[in-house]
Amino acid sequence: MSNMKVRRLVQLFARLPGVGEKTAQRYVLHLLTGDEETPRELARELATLRDELRPCERCGNVAEVRADGPTVCEICADSRRDPTILCVVARVHDLMAIERTMAMKGRYFVLGRLLSPLEGIGPEDLPIPRLLRLVADDGVTEIIVATPPSVDGEATALLLKRELASLGVSMTRIASGVPHGGDLEYADPITMGRALAGRRGL
Ligand SMILES: [Zn+2]
Repeated sequence: MSNMKVRRLVQLFARLPGVGEKTAQRYVLHLLTGDEETPRELARELATLRDELRPCERCGNVAEVRADGPTVCEICADSRRDPTILCVVARVHDLMAIERTMAMKGRYFVLGRLLSPLEGIGPEDLPIPRLLRLVADDGVTEIIVATPPSVDGEATALLLKRELASLGVSMTRIASGVPHGGDLEYADPITMGRALAGRRGL
């Protein structure tokens, strides 16, 4: 494939996680030779993606931007959710994996990253002050730490325990039903549900 536009598009698709050069080429050829509407629709949706969706101001989940109020996600806006239970996750993928279990009655807080001395990510790089404020404001009584069962995930769980200890809130850690080092995002809903149900004191 030598056409410049094709090469450019292949490079762009190959920037996405899990997409190699071959897959990127398949995407581009499919968009070029398949139905005409798909590339146009994709372009329209992508053009406005970052304007219409932003991180929720409260929890960091994906939320629709609204002109008439704060950007708050569907979960935070749902009054049937128990505000006293807060599940802390590393990334939005993890939140979605837990949501698929339909076992989480509370709300979430997305850290955005894990503590990682090897990558130079220290405690000051995590949104701990925002988390502390939210716990106090919402009257949270249980924090479920659902960081992944990896070295960085465990280190982050211990940091949270230390930072939140003074609040006198019950802290639990999801059970190790998900494989060690594994990504929560790949855990099936049943395994994830068991990990949540089998949570233990941190
Ligand atoms: Zn939210």
